[in-house]
Formats: sequence, structure tokens, C-alpha cells
Amino acid sequence: MPEAVRYLILSDIHANLEALEAVLDAAPDGTWDHAVVLGDLVGYGASPNPVIDLVRALNPIAIIRGNHDKAACGIEDGSNFNHVARVAALWTGESLTGENREFLRSLPAGPVTIDEHVEFCHGSPFDEDHYIFDTDDARRALDAGERPLCLFGHTHLPVVFRRIGDTYDGFLPEGSVDTLLSIEPEVRYMVNPGSVGQPRDGDPRAAFAIYDSRGPEVVLRRVHYPVDAAQRRIISAGLPASLANRLAVGR
Ligand code: ZN
Repeated sequence: MPEAVRYLILSDIHANLEALEAVLDAAPDGTWDHAVVLGDLVGYGASPNPVIDLVRALNPIAIIRGNHDKAACGIEDGSNFNHVARVAALWTGESLTGENREFLRSLPAGPVTIDEHVEFCHGSPFDEDHYIFDTDDARRALDAGERPLCLFGHTHLPVVFRRIGDTYDGFLPEGSVDTLLSIEPEVRYMVNPGSVGQPRDGDPRAAFAIYDSRGPEVVLRRVHYPVDAAQRRIISAGLPASLANRLAVGR
């Protein structure tokens, strides 16, 4: 019998300290055993160093780099970003402490595996920067995955895709309530917990997940955070106002 482990799954925090703190209040120490971070710790938000410091203090068992992490620390130049994302990446790069820049540079590309059941990636198991939006994208990812369950991020949209035999499907978590997903044998899953710091599904609440190996099960959760405080920080940093505005509507 393998050891039962509960994982706190955080993705796309995007330098939103207020959202990360609200998630950690809702899922305090002792309610999970290991943290896992699916990339994009920074970019868009105005608290890159405090977010990286807080993430490092969680001592995650796995952290994967995201495309914004790569742009902020200079692994990539951000030339494939839209204007606002590029402005934010430049601002982030100039704001990072030397130590935090080196930390981002040291992060591995996904997928990362920690046991025979689950793997973690930013975009997809076959390409760290690939977006999985629909069942066609998910089909390739489900076939490429090395484990029955793959947790991914990058789109900022909470979603579950499954391969049951030769059939592929997908569904969105229920709006206002936590979604409990039981992991069934013989089924493959791609699960996106959604974004902690910049949700894009029309729900401004921070999104995260708990993966419990005992079920096994995944719980997709949402939590309110002080959006106005995160917005004020973005505006005072001189970052584009659109990055503050979108937090209020979760788009
Ligand atoms: Zn992201």
C-alpha cells in the first residue's frame, strides 16, 4: 500500500500575492503534505519577489517553469508575447532580485513525475508551451502522458479531460462549489486546476486544487481574495491598467 499523500496544486500565480495568500489561508499547512507549482509564478502581477519568496517557503516537491517565468528571467526574450504581456515581462525582469532570477532560471521544463500515478506540466506533456483548450488538444496530451493523471496549467481555465477506452471527453467544474473528481482505474485524466492569480473563466476567485492519493481524488477549489488590493499594486507599479481591470472580471 503506497503512502497516502495530499498535494496542494498551484498554477499560474502570476505575481498575485493577495491571491496566493488567500489560497494558503483556505488550504493551510497540515491540510496537505506537499506543494506542487505548475509554472508561471510571475508575469502580469506586481509582486514577483514576494510570490517567489512565499512559494520557496512552501518547499514544493516539484516546480515547473512557465513561459512567463522563462521570459522574466531571460531564458526567452518574450518576442512571442502580446504587447501587454511583454511590458509585464520586462517590468518583472527588472524587478526580480538576483537570487530570484537565478531561482527561475533553475526551474525545469515539464513534465515532472514523482510517482507512478501522476505527472505535472505547464502547457502539455508533449510541449511545455502548448495550450490545451479543447478535446482535440487534450486527445494528443492524453495519448502522450506517461501517467494516468496529468495536472497542467497555462490556459488559466479549470477543466477536466478524460480518455475512457477509445472515448475522449471533457467537462468544466461546477461554478460556485468545489468539484470532487474521483480518479477511476483504466481512465486517463488531464486536469487543469485553473489559475491562482489571473483566472480567465469569468470567475474572479483564485483557483487551485488538492490531489489526494488516498482516493485517489482531485478537489478543484475557488476562493475569494482582495482583488482591489492586487489591482492597486499593479497600478502603482506602473503596469498596464488592463492587467488590473481583468482581475475584477476573471478574464
Ligand atoms: Zn499563465
